[in-house]
Amino acid sequence: MNADRRLAAVRRRLADSEADALFITGISNVVYVTGFDGVFDEHANAACLVTAELARAYTDSRYAEVAELASRGTAWSVTVSSDPLDDRMCEDLAGTGVTTLGFEASLSFSRHRTLSEKSGVNLCATEQWVEELREVKEAAETERIAAAASLTDRTFDHILGVLAPGMTEAEVAVEIESFMRRNGSEGVAFPSIVASGPNSSRPHATVTGRRIEPGDPLTMDFGARIGGYCADMTRTVVVGRASEEFRRVYDAVLAANRAGAAAVRGGTPGIDIDRVARDSLSDAGFGEFFGHGLGHGVGLDVHELPSVGPRGTRPVPAGAVVTVEPGVYMEGRFGVRIEDLVRVEDDGCSTLSASPRDLIEM
Ligand code: ZN
Ligand code: ZN
Repeated sequence: MNADRRLAAVRRRLADSEADALFITGISNVVYVTGFDGVFDEHANAACLVTAELARAYTDSRYAEVAELASRGTAWSVTVSSDPLDDRMCEDLAGTGVTTLGFEASLSFSRHRTLSEKSGVNLCATEQWVEELREVKEAAETERIAAAASLTDRTFDHILGVLAPGMTEAEVAVEIESFMRRNGSEGVAFPSIVASGPNSSRPHATVTGRRIEPGDPLTMDFGARIGGYCADMTRTVVVGRASEEFRRVYDAVLAANRAGAAAVRGGTPGIDIDRVARDSLSDAGFGEFFGHGLGHGVGLDVHELPSVGPRGTRPVPAGAVVTVEPGVYMEGRFGVRIEDLVRVEDDGCSTLSASPRDLIEM
């Protein structure tokens, strides 16, 4: 991880802005800019202050030992505080000559109020500075995502061997997550979705105790996490024989998945990639059943920049890792989603999800 390059990039953003310091409070952003590996979990109490001269990370005693160890030989100093981190940061600001402090969108209203009372400087909102830096992955980041995607593929293969009518969605989810953890995943990238029968028409269904019946479609959306980096994949299978109607929908979603992936190319706005898959589903007569965006960036967070949806007006850069996940959701009946993880290249994309896409009936 190239922490010096990341810090220099934050300082370039600062130099181009009205702010002369940035207070980083988003935990994935803290992980990214410090380059501290395996130090902060999602619930960590941590923040960073970056100025032209200073690079200071704040945390509490729970993370002190590992954070100090990780900072050795880097430009970062670590301040361990039992007081609120924001108070310590405000004290540090005095005497730095900082006049305008940038803050991130993740800063809560109450923390913003504390900063305006105690910092003694002007505050200015910044827009996704670190999130934008995180879009293009370094080789070491892509390797971790690819390793997580590969374990996700192995997990799908494993689950095909154990799936049977009579299992509950919860039992399938436990089997997925247990296999991933036993094989090196750090927890899960996000709570797995296992949606059977009519539950599959809900794109983000919660896992229930419903028993899988013969002939049920089953949508499984899950991902491993390795070295802090996420994978994200969805497959819909049929536990039994598919109906003619299901098959028509499945074929349309698969065609949209292929069309979407074929449209991924570095420099293409996300909305244009989304439109290709959306048009493909519309041409097949299922456009009205696809409500969400085609995809999203994946990295330290399972949902990050760039957007590959109707709001994705910015170009998707080569080097980003994004999902391609068209779906058709027929309320009260069934749904199909086929989601792959791809790395954006200058002239197309390379697929990181290797699980079979053709309809599986079991
Ligand atoms: Zn997913
Ligand atoms: Zn996704």
